[in-house]
Amino acid sequence: MNNIHASIDDYLLRPRVAYFSMEIALAPDIPTYSGGLGVLAGDTLRAAADMALPMVAVTLVSRGGYFRQEIDEAGRQVEHPDIWEPAHHATHLKATVALTLEGRDVWVGGWLYIVQSLANRGIPVLLLDTDLPVNHPDDRQITYQLYGGDTRMRLKQEAVLGMGGVAMLQALGFDIFTYHMNEGHSSLLTMALIKRHSFDRADVRPGECRFELPKVRDLCAFTTHTPVDAGHDQFPYDLVTTVLGDIPDLATLKMLAGEDKLNMTRLALNLSEYVNGVAKRHAEVSGRMFPGYAVHAVTNGVHASTWTAEPFASLYDSQLPGWCHEPELLIRADRLPDETIWKAHTRAKADLIDKVRTLTGVVMDPDKPIIGFARRMTAYKRADLLFSDLERLKAIARHHPFQIVLAGKAHPRDDMGHQLIEALHRHIRELAGSVSITFLPNYDMNVALAMVSGADVWLNTPLRPLEASGTSGMKAAFNGVPQLSVLDGWWVEGWEEGLTGWAIGEDKLQANGNDALALYDKLEHVVLPLWHGDRAGWIAVMKGAISRNAAFFNSHRMMRRYASEAYLR
Ligand SMILES: *Cc1c(COP(=O)(O)O)cnc(C)c1O
Repeated sequence: MNNIHASIDDYLLRPRVAYFSMEIALAPDIPTYSGGLGVLAGDTLRAAADMALPMVAVTLVSRGGYFRQEIDEAGRQVEHPDIWEPAHHATHLKATVALTLEGRDVWVGGWLYIVQSLANRGIPVLLLDTDLPVNHPDDRQITYQLYGGDTRMRLKQEAVLGMGGVAMLQALGFDIFTYHMNEGHSSLLTMALIKRHSFDRADVRPGECRFELPKVRDLCAFTTHTPVDAGHDQFPYDLVTTVLGDIPDLATLKMLAGEDKLNMTRLALNLSEYVNGVAKRHAEVSGRMFPGYAVHAVTNGVHASTWTAEPFASLYDSQLPGWCHEPELLIRADRLPDETIWKAHTRAKADLIDKVRTLTGVVMDPDKPIIGFARRMTAYKRADLLFSDLERLKAIARHHPFQIVLAGKAHPRDDMGHQLIEALHRHIRELAGSVSITFLPNYDMNVALAMVSGADVWLNTPLRPLEASGTSGMKAAFNGVPQLSVLDGWWVEGWEEGLTGWAIGEDKLQANGNDALALYDKLEHVVLPLWHGDRAGWIAVMKGAISRNAAFFNSHRMMRRYASEAYLR
């Protein structure tokens, strides 16, 4: 839902938190996100809108989206632009601001999109756009494709986001009391703030810093989202000076962002008064990665009404009214009659089976459990763990039949990710006749909702400790779908064996060796026999997922934490 006639003036009346994110999943038909980071940003704003928090978000317009995924005959990913038209969803911003990149003026305009909640005025989102006729043709492309292009392009995108974003907020008249960096991509915003808080050169004695760093630090909060190295952008300083021009105080920048390379995470860490990871385990791991910084934990949550499919939403509406705005009410889901839970699930599963048939022609059986697995296709998520031993998998399926639905995109430049998708399609062919498996193309918000609600079990097999949080399992919980997962990310907190779902392997950091065996054993001896043999026992776990997980791992709780700890310090 969105009001395209909104005026920026409606949002200038009170000071706000500026939430910066390279990607935001604004709506299912707006492809300005690649995965979990963007979906979390969208859920953050949707919860903030429900709660009437004073926020404004800044991101890039990404007119060409991330990409639309097609799978060819050979089971390979083919990437297409995923173009959307901002004018259909948003209004033009009145202001334009200029940056100098590679010695040229780059003008940044943008769009106003409103994340609307039913009751409140909504959260304004500024979609920055360099596709303006005054710009050099190359510069018009900067905001075109999310995570597109090479390192130089990435640096320009991050300069537009961080420095252009701060300038745009100022040009429009926003009064900002906290800048929240959702991941390090936007941390160049600190440079813009430093510039605003710098002294006149004449006032400074040799050896003294020209900047009021404490003032900047007091304005900033930073959320880190991954312990994976490639997730922390680093730029060589010769590239930085080519793109951004001569930096007045390179020595200070190096002190703040790293001696050898400009490390965006380090810059954010050094200039943020409040720093957090996205689950307790992730905060511990981040604290070890970045010694000397206090890394707090705010465990992620998902937006209740966005991630609950219609069958369960109607059930909650009738039995637990108010659950959308106060998801804690779902703690009472364990009192819902079994047959209402099973009926809602059966409807959600039928919807998934329909979608699978429409998209792939594969016909799934409603009387066999569906194992759902959908992830970014990248090595550490181990999409192939389930297929480590095909003979064992076949043997399990002979006694306890099951089916599998898979989905996920690989980043265009992630070769391992592409190979994983090909390998999965090989396994699908190899298991034909024994286990019915299908891969749904173009994993996005719509496919995600269909899968997390229509599966019977949600599988998660990351390499510990690399899954910072994970959120799809939380979405599954809102739909009464229990998780079977490695103990990493949020599952360390949400897992209660046999009550909310099941663990794969033990809770030991780095002990990933026997995960495939542990997965097969748990499937064969616990999960599948319960599904086939004890319907009431199974429904009890479904209720546990709702009442013990969904009631807690939601974005309303998450935003109360950010408000009280990061914003209103
Ligand atoms: C929720 C979601 C994700 C993130 O899920 P993880 O569990 O963190 O892997 C990624 N992509 C889409 C489309 C989603 O909806």
